[in-house]
Amino acid sequence: MAESTCPKCGMPEDLCVCDSIAREDQKITVKIDSRSYNKEMTVIEGLEDSVDLQDLASTLKSKLACGGTAKEGHIELQGDHTRRIVDILEDEGFDRKNIEVEA
Ligand SMILES: [Zn+2]
Repeated sequence: MAESTCPKCGMPEDLCVCDSIAREDQKITVKIDSRSYNKEMTVIEGLEDSVDLQDLASTLKSKLACGGTAKEGHIELQGDHTRRIVDILEDEGFDRKNIEVEA
């Protein structure tokens, strides 16, 4: 199996810290969207391309045991997770100072 390297720094993905640096600096907004759906959705906005959204979305879905999708620049999770999301994002390398929750 070929070892994949980071397109930004050229390091093997195992050693690359681009994603964790990107995460620390992300300014994130978390809000509940109940308008477009019958059920409440927790929407995480403000994420840049430097963060692997698919990877983050799958981590959040498994930690919160919910469904969800990653789209351009944001992640949608089924249900209201505003009480736990900040702690979980912090575990994932984000800085809680940069996380704003609009409830
Ligand atoms: Zn890198």
